[in-house]
Amino acid sequence: MTDSPPWADLFGHPEPYPEQADGIDAAVDAAADGGFLALEGACGTGKTMLALTAGLDRVRDPDSDFERVFVLTSVKQQLRQFETDLRAVNENLPSDYDPVSGLTLVGKADVCPYARENRGGIDRENVYERCEGLRERTRNLVGDGGATTTANLVSEARSQQVGLMDSGSAGPAGGTAAADSGAPDADYLSVDGEPTPYRPDTEEYDDVEFCPFYAGFLDDLPEDGEPAEAVPFDVTELGHVDADELVRLAAGHGSCPHSIMGALVPEVEVVIGNYYHAFDPVTTGTFTGALLDDSTFVVCDEAHMLEPRVRDLVSDAVRTRASATRRTSSRASFSPSRSRARAPSRTTPPSSAASWRTRT
Ligand code: SF4
Repeated sequence: MTDSPPWADLFGHPEPYPEQADGIDAAVDAAADGGFLALEGACGTGKTMLALTAGLDRVRDPDSDFERVFVLTSVKQQLRQFETDLRAVNENLPSDYDPVSGLTLVGKADVCPYARENRGGIDRENVYERCEGLRERTRNLVGDGGATTTANLVSEARSQQVGLMDSGSAGPAGGTAAADSGAPDADYLSVDGEPTPYRPDTEEYDDVEFCPFYAGFLDDLPEDGEPAEAVPFDVTELGHVDADELVRLAAGHGSCPHSIMGALVPEVEVVIGNYYHAFDPVTTGTFTGALLDDSTFVVCDEAHMLEPRVRDLVSDAVRTRASATRRTSSRASFSPSRSRARAPSRTTPPSSAASWRTRT
């Protein structure tokens, strides 16, 4: 009888294929050496579970410096596969293990309560522009010399409903005597049928439009503490949190789901995203930068797509910069050799799934 491998409890199925077990061992060894592994396998050979198990083995080993697994996928179907396999890991963990905490990164269009419900003049197309304006105005209202405080904005936004409730209408939980009193029903924004504490549209203070969900997030942020302290639920008990659950938990509490997502990024054991989250300069500068260090075990799915995709990302930046340069100086010239190599140097494209440690 042979001993079980150290990662056996983290493997989400009863038994690995022999090739899967070899692959997990190879990935664990490569990570322990600070190296990378290029791994190729046909569809259905269990590469997703292989990569997750190897990464989680490193993260859960108290002698390892790895703190998280960062999964980069190129298509949504693969993102779903990682979510499914992570759920399988959690469902099959021994009862004395804590669930593996995980988070799927998605864009504002997928988690903004207004964009999801097409309210407040916000839809999936304009959400980025509208959101930036709303956030800026909210910060201006409550910043140094601002007209009010986050607590007041939140209180006023919530009290719109209290006023209705005072007049006899139902709250989010429903069930009071609006019909009997003849008072209007309280009108809450619901997301996927779940009520939030605010009205269906954005709010105004002194004729300035603001986002009450963002005000709620700012109000929960400790002055000198970690952003994670603004998260209104305990992610270590939940296992994997997908976009729908994130919206339900955050918006139901009255906080911005996208801001909560950002606060959670450094806190969970598995982050599932896409190439942009590791290679797009804007995204890494504002959102995922905390993940890009030597404590991150990176899994890159469909890694043969990495080079063309990342080259496109960097090329866009080069074109923008070159255009700007042309606008400001007719004598300026662009040297391609100085603008290359934004991506880690270890990105020689293997032909299928691969894992390697980030170098930034
Ligand atoms: S701050 Fe959050 S809730 Fe408000 S508009 Fe932006 S994404 Fe939506």
